[in-house]
Amino acid sequence: MDISYIINELGEEREHYFNAVAPPIIQTSNFAFKKVDDMRRLFEDEYSGYIYSRGLNPTVDILRKKLAALDEAEDCLVFNSGASAIFASVLANVKAGDHIVSVKKPYFWAQQMFNVILPRFGVTTTYVDGTQIENFERAILPNTSVIYLESPNSWSLALQDLEAVAELAKAQGIITICDNSYCTPLYQKPLAMGIDMALQSATKYIGGHSDVVAGVLTGSHAMMTKIFNSEYLTAGNGISPFNAWLLIRGLRTLPVRLQKVTENTKAVLAFLKAHPKVEAVLFPHDESFPQYTLAKQQMQGACGLLSFYLKVEKIEEIVTFCENLKHILMAVSWGGYESLIIPGCASVAQEAYNVAQKSQRMLRLYVGQEEPAYIIEDLEQALNNT
Ligand SMILES: *Cc1c(COP(=O)(O)O)cnc(C)c1O
Repeated sequence: MDISYIINELGEEREHYFNAVAPPIIQTSNFAFKKVDDMRRLFEDEYSGYIYSRGLNPTVDILRKKLAALDEAEDCLVFNSGASAIFASVLANVKAGDHIVSVKKPYFWAQQMFNVILPRFGVTTTYVDGTQIENFERAILPNTSVIYLESPNSWSLALQDLEAVAELAKAQGIITICDNSYCTPLYQKPLAMGIDMALQSATKYIGGHSDVVAGVLTGSHAMMTKIFNSEYLTAGNGISPFNAWLLIRGLRTLPVRLQKVTENTKAVLAFLKAHPKVEAVLFPHDESFPQYTLAKQQMQGACGLLSFYLKVEKIEEIVTFCENLKHILMAVSWGGYESLIIPGCASVAQEAYNVAQKSQRMLRLYVGQEEPAYIIEDLEQALNNT
């Protein structure tokens, strides 16, 4: 399907709402029936129509159709956060006594689910270095029901060979889930590589304006039906019509925003690589990246997030660098207009500062959509004053 058609037309039935070009926000909690039989039909199968907006809603449906098509998926559910999408996708596929294999250091709240919540229900998780397929092979147990992936990882940028993991899992009846927030469906299609479910934090690139928190889950119609009828309706963590509308608006400019971020990232990367105070950079589509070949093979693009290490004697110099930035904001998240930075040392107490630890010398930069010179000048003045 043509991407412009998906973004501009798919799911939109303009003749039903006065030929308005922009979609309507159907801000209603419930829907009325004329016939008892119609109401009964919806009670029997809530996934077949509109009864209550904790389930389906017409504005959300426009978005679901577009997001499913972008991922080449049969179906899609949209949640009120990326974390909800993660939680629902995993919870729906484990029972007491099951085992999960997860790539090491996935998104923090996925780790919390694996480490704190699921063990209370007898579900255990083994973390593996996902750069080697053998590590997955070794970690699989007879009771493994889910393999959880995040490629690339949003900090280390480490990749997994998605086709190889999917093939391994399929042979053993294991469900695979991949967090695709870094790439979006425009730059990587996990389902086309055999992964069962793709998810992303729509808070990042789909929303694109740092103003909405949301999550997307795509997969087979059977799987989405199962999750809708259980985790989705029970936890009540669907997206609101207004936030769905913001995401539809975000999608309209997604391709052009990613293009701009890609160009900017190239310029910033070249600057950082040449700067004497920068020890190393990590970026999947940079030739120096350890998994460059795989990154070129399975990701159609890479942009925005990159990590770099500063050459410093003391962690305090990194603190000075960050606090000297005039335009780049120190903030979590990414995918909006503005460039953002997080120093690794913000995750450790000041007393624990240790410059010998590489993770503390690391910074995660999101290159936004400002003019590249504006971003580079800011980095340069802050580096020179460090
Ligand atoms: C932000 C993020 C999430 C969580 O998404 P929310 O929308 O913040 O709940 C999940 N995975 C990755 C890689 C993220 O960056």
